[in-house]
Amino acid sequence: SLHLDGISKSFARRTVLHDLSLTVHDGEIFTLLGPSGCGKSTTLWSIAGLHAPDSGSIAFGDRVVFDHGRTNVEPEHRNCGVVFQSYAIWPHLSVADNVGYPLKLRRTPKARREHRVREVLDLVELGDHARSYPHQLSGGQQQRVAMARALAHPPDLLLLDEPFSNLDAKLRDRSRQWLKVLQAQVGVTTVFVTHDQDEALSFSDRIAVMNHGRVHQVGTPQEIYEHPADLFTAGFVGTAN
Ligand code: ATP
Ligand code: MG
Repeated sequence: SLHLDGISKSFARRTVLHDLSLTVHDGEIFTLLGPSGCGKSTTLWSIAGLHAPDSGSIAFGDRVVFDHGRTNVEPEHRNCGVVFQSYAIWPHLSVADNVGYPLKLRRTPKARREHRVREVLDLVELGDHARSYPHQLSGGQQQRVAMARALAHPPDLLLLDEPFSNLDAKLRDRSRQWLKVLQAQVGVTTVFVTHDQDEALSFSDRIAVMNHGRVHQVGTPQEIYEHPADLFTAGFVGTAN
C-alpha cells in the first residue's frame, strides 16, 4: 500500500498542496480526479520522487521514502513505472529498444532483456511491432509502448498522468478498457490522474476528488456519484457537469 500523510507543497510561496493525506491499497486503481491546476500532477511527481514536498511523509508499505523534509529513497530506487501525458518514447529507437531501455539502464543481461521485452510487448498486444519505429505507429499504439516500457522492469507502483488525453474519443475508450484488463492481469497498484469525471467513474476502484490542493472526498465511483460529500464534488462529478 501507498501512504501520503500530511503532504504540503508550495511553488514561489503559492501553496498547491495543502496537508494532503491518502492511502492507496495494494492492487487497486486509485484515481486522482480534479480540475486543471488542482495539484494532481504535483501529487504524482511527489510519489515518484521527481520533486520533494515541503512537509509530510510518503511510505510504500512500511518503507518510508520521504519524511521530515528528507528524501530517504531516490526516485530511481522507488520502482515506479511512470507514463506521462506526453508519452516521451524515443523516436530514434525501435519499439523493442524503447521498451528495453529501463532494463538496459539496470544492466539486465541481453538474453533476459530480450525475453522480458517480448513478454511485455505481448501483454500490450504489440508483439508484431517490436521492430517498428514510433512514427510507424498510431497514437494509441505509441501509448501502449510507453505503458510497456513502464512495466518492463515490473514496477511496485504504476503512475499514469492523463495518459489518454491525446487520443480521439474512440481510441480513448478502447484504451481505458484495455488498461483495466491489463491492470487486472498484472495486478500492479496504480495511481491514475485525470480531470475527466467519466474516465474516473468508468474504471477506478476508488477515486480521490481534489480541488485547490485538497482532497474533498475519497470513495468508490458509486459512493462519489451517489453520495457526494460536498457541493464541489456534487458539481464536479455530478450530471450538472
Ligand atoms: P492539469 O490537469 O492541468 O494537469 P494538475 O492538477 O496536474 O493540472 P499541477 O500540475 O499539479 O496541476 O499544478 C498545480 C499548481 O501548481 C498549478 O497552479 C501550477 O501552475 C503549479 N505548479 C506546478 N508545477 C510548478 C512549478 N514547477 N513551478 C511553479 N508552479 C508550479
Ligand atoms: Mg497535470
